[in-house]
Amino acid sequence: MKQVKELIGKRVLVLGMAKSGVASALLLARLGAEVVINDSKSRAEQPQAGELEAAGIQVVCGGHPLTVLDGCSLLVKNPGIPYTNIVVKEAEARGIPIWTEIELAYLISEAEMVAITGSNGKTTTTTLVKEMLEHSGRKPLIAGNIGTVASEVAQKAKAEHVIVLEVSSFQLMGTNAFQPKVAVWLNIFDAHLDYHGTREDYIAAKARIAANMGPADYLVYNADDPTVVQAIARIGATLVPFSRINVVEDGAYVKDGTIFFKDEPILALADAVLPGAHNVENMLAATAAARLAGATVEQIRHVLSHFPGVKHRLQYVGSWEGRQFYNDSKATNILATKAALSGFAKPVVLIAGGLDRGNDFDELLASLKYVKAVVAYGETKSKLLALAAKANVQAVTAERVQDATEKAVALSQPGDVVLLSPACASWDQYRSFEERGDEFLDYVNTIIKPS
Ligand code: ADP
Repeated sequence: MKQVKELIGKRVLVLGMAKSGVASALLLARLGAEVVINDSKSRAEQPQAGELEAAGIQVVCGGHPLTVLDGCSLLVKNPGIPYTNIVVKEAEARGIPIWTEIELAYLISEAEMVAITGSNGKTTTTTLVKEMLEHSGRKPLIAGNIGTVASEVAQKAKAEHVIVLEVSSFQLMGTNAFQPKVAVWLNIFDAHLDYHGTREDYIAAKARIAANMGPADYLVYNADDPTVVQAIARIGATLVPFSRINVVEDGAYVKDGTIFFKDEPILALADAVLPGAHNVENMLAATAAARLAGATVEQIRHVLSHFPGVKHRLQYVGSWEGRQFYNDSKATNILATKAALSGFAKPVVLIAGGLDRGNDFDELLASLKYVKAVVAYGETKSKLLALAAKANVQAVTAERVQDATEKAVALSQPGDVVLLSPACASWDQYRSFEERGDEFLDYVNTIIKPS
C-alpha cells in the first residue's frame, strides 16, 4: 500500500452518502481514520446511516453545517458534488485537500491500473480493454464510472489483477498521487461546463489522468484531436499515439484498411464487429492500451472480431433473414445518431423518436444518405416525418419501440440494417434509455437467432 498509513488517526470528512461515499467512509474507517460523513438529505433518506454508525462513523444528515470540517485534514467528496458547494468552498478556504474516492482506490490498490478517460467512448473502450486482457489471462477487474465503485474493487484486487478504470473529469479533479500504469485519453468535446466553469478547467481536469505518470508509464492519446495533443505536451509519461487518419508508427493506426499496433498487423477493419468511425478510434485506443498492459495480439484480434458492443451503445444484436439488428438506445441526442449512421454504408431502416426538447432534426439530413426508411414514434414523431419528407425518404409512424420495430422489419429486405438510434431522450415513454433498448432487444430476440 502507498501512503494510506498517513490516514491513521486523521479526521476525514466524506461528503455525499451515495454509493461511492458510503464505500469511502467504510474504507477510511477500516484504515484507521476518524470519519465523519455528511449529506444534505435527511436521515430518513439514508438507509445506510445505521451501518455507518455501527462502523464508528459520525453521520451528519439534513444539511451542511460547516462545523463538519472542524479538525479535518482531508475531504473526500462524491464526484457529482460541485465545487460551488458551501462545504467544498470552505474546505478550499481552509486549505484542506479535496479528493474523490478514485484517489483512495489508487492508494490502497495492490494491482496495476489502466485508466480510461475522454468525453465520449469511455465505456466502450474500457469494456474492450477488459475483454482483451481477460482473454489473454491477465485477470482484469472493471471499475469506476462504469458502475462498480473503484475503492471497493481496489480492496479486493491483488497484485496479479489489473484494474481497468473508467474515469470521468469529475473523478479526476479530486486526485493527488493517482498514477495509473497505462492511461487512455480518447478525445475532448465541450462538456460539463456547468460543473467545470471553463473549457480550460475541463481539459485540465482530464489531463490529471497523466499528471503523475513517469517514463515507465504509458499515455495512449488521440493524435487526431488537437486539443488532446496540446494538453499532453508536458506530460512525463511515454506517449503512445493512436490515429484513425495518419500512420503513427509508434502507436495504433489504420494502414490499407488494417488496424496496426506499432509494426504488428492486428485485424482488417472489415472483420471488426463494431461499426462507425468513432468505434475505430475506440478500437485503436483499446488495442494500444491492452497490448501495453499485457494482452496478446491473438486475443486482441479475437475480441475485435467478436465483441458485439456494449449494451445499448450501437450494440450488434444479431441477424435474421439477411437483416442485421443494432440497438443504439443510448443515442439520446442528434450527435449520437449521426455517429451511429456514419457506421453503415448499406441500406438502413432507422427507428427514432422520443422526448421533444423543442429542437428540429435538420442536422440529421446529411446523415440520411443510406437511410431507406424511417419509423418514428414518441413525442417527436411528426418532426421526424417532416425530416424524412425533406430527405425524400419513406416514413411511417408507430406508438412505441415494439410496434416501431415490427414495422421496421416489414420495411426491410435482406442486406439491410435495422437500427434503433432514437436521437431523443426516452422519458416521454420510458424510465430510461435502458428500458427503451430492452424493449427493442426483447422483440428482436424473439425473431432472430444470434450469429
Ligand atoms: P461514454 O462512456 O464516454 O459515455 P460510450 O462508450 O458509452 O461513451 O459511448 C456513448 C456514445 O458516445 C456512443 O453511443 C457514441 O454515439 C459516442 N461515441 C462513442 N465513442 C466515441 C468516440 N471515440 N468519439 C466520439 N463519439 C463517440
